[in-house]
Amino acid sequence: MPIHNFTPEVEALAQEILAYSLHRLKDDPPLDGPRTAEDLFNEVGNTITAKGLGGHEALEVFTNVLAKACISTDHPRNLAFIPSAPTEYSNLFDLVVGASSLYGGSWQEGAGAVFAENQALRWIADLAGLPQSAGGVFVQGGTNGNLSALVAARADARKKFPNTSRWAIACSAEAHSSIASAAHIMDVELLKIEPGADRKIHGDEVGAAIDKLHATSEVRVFAVVATGGTTNLGIIDDLETVGAATHARDIWFHVDGAYGLAALCAPSVRAKFNGVEKADSLIVDPHKWLFAPFDACALIYRNPEIAKETHTQHASYLETLHDDSWSPSDYAIHLTRRVRGLPFWFSLAAHGTDAYTEAMEETLNVAHSAADLVRAHPNLELVMEPELSIVAFKRKGWKAADYQKWSNKLLADQIGFIPPSSDKGEAILRFAIVNPWTKVSDISMILDTL
Ligand SMILES: *Cc1c(COP(=O)(O)O)cnc(C)c1O
Repeated sequence: MPIHNFTPEVEALAQEILAYSLHRLKDDPPLDGPRTAEDLFNEVGNTITAKGLGGHEALEVFTNVLAKACISTDHPRNLAFIPSAPTEYSNLFDLVVGASSLYGGSWQEGAGAVFAENQALRWIADLAGLPQSAGGVFVQGGTNGNLSALVAARADARKKFPNTSRWAIACSAEAHSSIASAAHIMDVELLKIEPGADRKIHGDEVGAAIDKLHATSEVRVFAVVATGGTTNLGIIDDLETVGAATHARDIWFHVDGAYGLAALCAPSVRAKFNGVEKADSLIVDPHKWLFAPFDACALIYRNPEIAKETHTQHASYLETLHDDSWSPSDYAIHLTRRVRGLPFWFSLAAHGTDAYTEAMEETLNVAHSAADLVRAHPNLELVMEPELSIVAFKRKGWKAADYQKWSNKLLADQIGFIPPSSDKGEAILRFAIVNPWTKVSDISMILDTL
């Protein structure tokens, strides 16, 4: 049977797939959990065959076996890493994006979709207080967003300081691992700055560390990365003073807000991000705390022209695309791209931004209640007051192995997914609360097992 043909079988399969999708959206998701590859092979065998399984059969393999071996990231008691909580509208619209073969690399091919994505980016740029000239692109994730921004930053610095042979990125010792990864890929050094007692980096420390490096070596710092909400604890660097110290030295200021900058839309915490308006570039992942499906990172530049000069790919077959129009491919390390910001745009456009503020405040409230419950719990100790929606705590008397054992049992019992983390070399537990379906009762249910 030809694979491009809308036959009655395809129609029937479409109904099955839509029914499954509806069920997955409507009913409480199971938590589920991983199985070994061997175990899965024993159950489904080799699914790639010369004759094919048929759509119905392949779907059954997925729904009955494979899907159940994937932890539901949107389960209200999955508080691991940074989970996800896409709105129904954004998930539904992802089906439309998938069905439409939209191309999001160039304005010529995807003007309507790119226009919509850009309006969603504009909302974030406005929340951050960036100028009208700001703009960017949705990339796959924060790792790519950080790297793309830093590559643009170095290109800018090369123009300003052409005689420099060695470059460095300055960031907090608590910065996300993707910054070290970017430095590694770019073959530049990493100037790690020890944060103060409040666990944040400030302008003074950053300025002093950079001045010392510049005075004592050939290495020049081309970008300072501040974090707008660390992934482990949700700590926000002092963006105001770090931004000022960075610009005073004619250095690019990048704010990594993959998790935390989502909360720019929450008035109760907005002031914690003061100084973000100084950013030359910033990222925030709508797939983390802005209720969008994987995978979407909003990468925004103060001056997108610099990024365009850096990232535009030139090839004979592409030159036809290069005019004054806005082609998303030109602003990051990628060419072909799915319009991954469109599910986010649709939900934001349909619900309105007030609904986002409300959902965000709801998760912050639950985080505060969770911190209260931890404080009141006889066996637990709060690591710090939550700055955003991450609640970190210790179980008195436990060693790392005890945490792991507890976590394994919690998943095996299908109560929740809370893998242990660590802070200052000691094991901790953390709740990353980004899901408005997570209720205080869910937190209690987990705490009762401690
Ligand atoms: C999650 C995260 C990243 C990486 O983002 P991905 O989308 O997972 O690539 C970078 N920085 C911070 C602060 C993060 O929380």
